[in-house]
Amino acid sequence: MVANGGASTSASINGRAYEIVDHSFDVVVVGAGGAGLRAVVGCAKAGLRAACVTKVFPTRSHTVAAQGGVAAALGNMGPDDWKWHMYDTVKGSDWLGDQDAIEYLCRNAPEAVYELEHWGVPFSRTADGRIYQRPFGGMTTDFGKGPPAQRTCAAADRTGHAMLHTLYGQALKHDTEFFVEYFALDLIMDSEGRCRGVVCLKLDDGTIHRFRAGLTVLATGGYGRAYLSATSAHTCTGDGNAMALRAGLPLQDMEFVQFHPTGIYGAGCLITEGARGEGGYLTNSEGERFMERYAPSVKDLAPRDMVSRAITMEVREGRGVGKHRDHAFLHLEHLDPAILHERLPGISESAKIFAGVDVTREPIPIIPTVHYNMGGIPTNYHGEVLTKKGGDGDAVVPGLMAIGEAACVSVHGANRLGSNSLIDLIVFGRAAGLRAAEVVKPGETQPELPAGSADAALSRLDRLRYANGATPTAALRDKMQRAMQSHCAVYRTGEVLAEGVEQVKAVWRESADVKVTDRSLIWNSDLVETLEFENLIAQAAVTIVSAENRKESRGAHAREDYPNRDDANWMKHTLATIDAENKSVSIDYRGVHSFTMTDEVQYIEPKARVY
Ligand SMILES: Cc1cc2nc3c(=O)[nH]c(=O)nc-3n(C[C@H](O)[C@H](O)[C@H](O)COP(=O)(O)OP(=O)(O)OC[C@H]3O[C@@H](n4cnc5c(N)ncnc54)[C@H](O)[C@@H]3O)c2cc1C
Repeated sequence: MVANGGASTSASINGRAYEIVDHSFDVVVVGAGGAGLRAVVGCAKAGLRAACVTKVFPTRSHTVAAQGGVAAALGNMGPDDWKWHMYDTVKGSDWLGDQDAIEYLCRNAPEAVYELEHWGVPFSRTADGRIYQRPFGGMTTDFGKGPPAQRTCAAADRTGHAMLHTLYGQALKHDTEFFVEYFALDLIMDSEGRCRGVVCLKLDDGTIHRFRAGLTVLATGGYGRAYLSATSAHTCTGDGNAMALRAGLPLQDMEFVQFHPTGIYGAGCLITEGARGEGGYLTNSEGERFMERYAPSVKDLAPRDMVSRAITMEVREGRGVGKHRDHAFLHLEHLDPAILHERLPGISESAKIFAGVDVTREPIPIIPTVHYNMGGIPTNYHGEVLTKKGGDGDAVVPGLMAIGEAACVSVHGANRLGSNSLIDLIVFGRAAGLRAAEVVKPGETQPELPAGSADAALSRLDRLRYANGATPTAALRDKMQRAMQSHCAVYRTGEVLAEGVEQVKAVWRESADVKVTDRSLIWNSDLVETLEFENLIAQAAVTIVSAENRKESRGAHAREDYPNRDDANWMKHTLATIDAENKSVSIDYRGVHSFTMTDEVQYIEPKARVY
């Protein structure tokens, strides 16, 4: 159901009137990707009145682009065990993941996938009718001692599409109230630090909508667009992360940015890791299958951080392919065309459109491309947002949850394994719904909001709407993206990072000089892109400052000046906060959970990450 109703008042900012419409719900979920939709379905099923606010139509959320699949130890293709999945995820995270949360993820994954199956996700099938599962990087059997696991459940190479459409159908079935093309501006926090709701801009008519709710759930996705070349949609601007920062809350482990080894050279579109799962392999200019040198046992199915570093090394050492010798090849032409057609139709089409390559005859030119944010809003495994506030970093922020790529639970630690995000969305989306049912009473009257609760968001909106500096948003965004791309890349050094920090901070300061040309409030894309840029620049700053600060190499954070993992000093989560006024970043820490959720599994002791 698409809703709009609510009592309307008016507010004046700088002498300009804005119409404010008020809504009251048990729960408001911001975001309609896999995480948001799964949460909202859970809330609705529990009898809670739930609203789902989204800046794009639900089925256009980035989850729709997910290709390769969703990990769960179903054991349909051979022996498997959720404890092996847990071991792989801890090792994949380079021991930065919280092991209680990882246990929760892997233990609950099979049930969450079967639930999707029963709701109608059209998974690919084995000959005997079970869900088809393919191998993915870093997924092994028998605690890393056995051969690669076939653990990734797939609907051809359009798994996210299948999941998102099914979840949207379920949300409609359970009478979720959708607020589509509403842009969330800021959280409403009260003086005691409780989140009371969220302020949004309705994009087609410029009215301001104030949602008050017992619980606000941020499911706003990642911020890949802080970089120039990313596989993520242009809408992936981490708006929820920035709202948390502006509310004075920390973001966790933002230095860990995943580069996917196989983005299409030039275009940046993704070729799923499932391509290597189905038997694809990489070569350099000498035609060598170089992954055999970097990861002798699992080769092309090593985790993403390792494969991205290997490609970067090959290029650096002069063995890149192409005119500029600056990328590598992914081969699928040896595979049976019938298999390509059945299991990888989407990427066959992308390779044709974006690289002009017929995958049945020639290799695809690929390069590591920004793909996923391990960092985000810190939460526990119920989805509740955590803050430090003088404690150990495990204090819950009342009334606020975060799930999906916006959150840092942390199950991916320093490096996410492929297909572990889609499962994160549905396991923790589901967990958030379960927790909501415990902490929110259905139909409870939400106390009135203080009169000025939309003021801060409104004055920010008004300031940007009338911004009359000299630099267009696009120019600022381009500078930020280039600084991040060149200074916060696969390999990092202190010197380059320090230079990058200066460049990003300079853009941040320069954003005071932004120029917005469109003053209207009806489909003002200039204004929306400026709001998104303001969100991105804060996250870019936090990311690169956190990266400069972490003096070790772990997972996706590869420091050439500190090439080793340093568990004695750095086995801890980074917590970064901002001072938006002075445009500065502060760093603090939180302990990694070195305990499990139940006695059924033991803490997995750190060791070298060899594949
Ligand atoms: C090309 C690609 C392929 C991938 N393939 C896989 C895969 O095969 N397996 C896997 O596990 N992972 C994969 N991933 C990662 C995974 O798809 C994402 O991490 C995941 O889909 C993120 O889901 P989400 O629900 O957190 O957010 P998203 O799907 O990004 O949705 C964000 C939602 O928030 C809303 N929103 C954002 N800001 C605002 C705002 N200000 N106001 C209102 N609404 C807002 C948006 O409208 C949207 O509905 C892939 C990622 C990409 C980019």
